[in-house]
Amino acid sequence: MWRQRWIRWFAAGVIPPAVLSVLRRIEKRGGEGFIVGGCMRDLMLDRSPDDWDVASSLTPEEVRSSFSRPLPTGIEHGTVTVVQGDAHVEVTTFRTEGEYSDHRRPDWVTFSRRLEDDLGRRDFTINAMAMDRRGMLHDPFGGLEDLACGRIRTVGEAAERFNEDALRMVRAVRFAAQLHFAVGEDILLAIRDNARLLRQVSVERIQYELNRILLSSQPARGLRMLQQTELLEQFWPELVEGVGVEQNPHHAYTVWEHTLGTLDAMARLCGSGLVLRLAALLHDVGKPRCLSVDDEGQRRFFNHHVVGAAIARRMLSRLRYDNQTIERTTHLIRHHMALHHYPEMKDAAIRRLINRVGLEHIDDLIQLRIADREGSGTKRGPLSRGTIRLLDRIAKVLEEDSAFSLRDLAVDGNDVMEVAGIDPGPEVGEILEALLDEVLEDPSLNTEPVLRQRIRDMVESGDAEVRE
Ligand code: ATP
Ligand code: MG
Repeated sequence: MWRQRWIRWFAAGVIPPAVLSVLRRIEKRGGEGFIVGGCMRDLMLDRSPDDWDVASSLTPEEVRSSFSRPLPTGIEHGTVTVVQGDAHVEVTTFRTEGEYSDHRRPDWVTFSRRLEDDLGRRDFTINAMAMDRRGMLHDPFGGLEDLACGRIRTVGEAAERFNEDALRMVRAVRFAAQLHFAVGEDILLAIRDNARLLRQVSVERIQYELNRILLSSQPARGLRMLQQTELLEQFWPELVEGVGVEQNPHHAYTVWEHTLGTLDAMARLCGSGLVLRLAALLHDVGKPRCLSVDDEGQRRFFNHHVVGAAIARRMLSRLRYDNQTIERTTHLIRHHMALHHYPEMKDAAIRRLINRVGLEHIDDLIQLRIADREGSGTKRGPLSRGTIRLLDRIAKVLEEDSAFSLRDLAVDGNDVMEVAGIDPGPEVGEILEALLDEVLEDPSLNTEPVLRQRIRDMVESGDAEVRE
């Protein structure tokens, strides 16, 4: 049966010819070669694998000398990357692993000539299947049955495997969220018992798995599982502060349940990028620390967007997100209340809003607003009438072709230096900012002669220092 399926995969071009040619070459050298791990699992699920992993009985040296352009990617771990045309195939020598005294890396690795040894060191049964180039399946731990039943099971005893490498606990949640699989009570218990060991795992590895959970089609389910198993508090305890925190009549849910609702809505209705998913997850992280009760007994979260942006920055830095992700995510959190409508807003206030938020972020803010509203559990329709009115007014103000940022001004830094007679330096920027401030208030000032005159006025009034 597998042979038929194998032939179909091959005929449909699902398995690249390069992979088969690598397997053939390994056999020619007298070794055994198999497709293994994640790509085998994805093939069985009719998902197209991201990358192709081959396991082989040949030693890394033998693999290296069998191919003309090998890249010794991780040769100390037994991995050689073989380049065949455009395709890169990772060939890893069968191996077994020693004790894991630090809960993240084996103390030693030995190469093996037996496929079963290699499959036995893998994390989950669904990731521990292999197939040779004739379509012969090796599934010693019942991965196929678990795939069919949709469940995550460890190879061997869960607690022991999580003790070896604590990241596997997060990977269990990741596969559950990606594949919509169940995680048995026994595994969840073993995770809770060992959750603290996650502190010994590098933050880069945690970030990688967390991103996969956030980008899956069930991110809220994944996050709930991380929280319930106590994994979440090991790296982002700030999020757990929202658990059980009741809100006000605008919300049907506690802060944490609303967070999950927002994340779920983002995945179902809105953006699929990582920044939007992170912003959905972290947008209200400041609420628990901003909670107060007003005279009427109403719960308020004054300034939570500002406090939340600062907390989120620390959280994202802790997991070593890149600067662009940190800046974009915290910017969205900082401004996630901006599209709430204030009826008394004048045109100048709208221009200031566009300047503050940045035109390029408005689309993302709309997505966050929709998800946030959906997650409140009390509102109908993607956007309130007030927000729609505000967006209309933003569109109208934009049509007027006024200046919203420094680059829209009718003068630039060179003009400022020339008219004011000053050298490059922070003062140039300060003058430009002052000009923009006036133009946001009154767009008719945005002409070169008027602004040049304003620069002269500022110099004369002593607001700008003249060059000696
Ligand atoms: P993806 O689709 O994200 O690539 P994957 O299952 O291929 O998922 P990888 O990190 O590429 O994940 O790992 C490839 C294979 O290596 C896995 O399928 C699994 O067999 C094994 N593996 C990866 N990480 C671990 C781990 N921490 N412990 C044990 N085995 C692991
Ligand atoms: Mg992979």
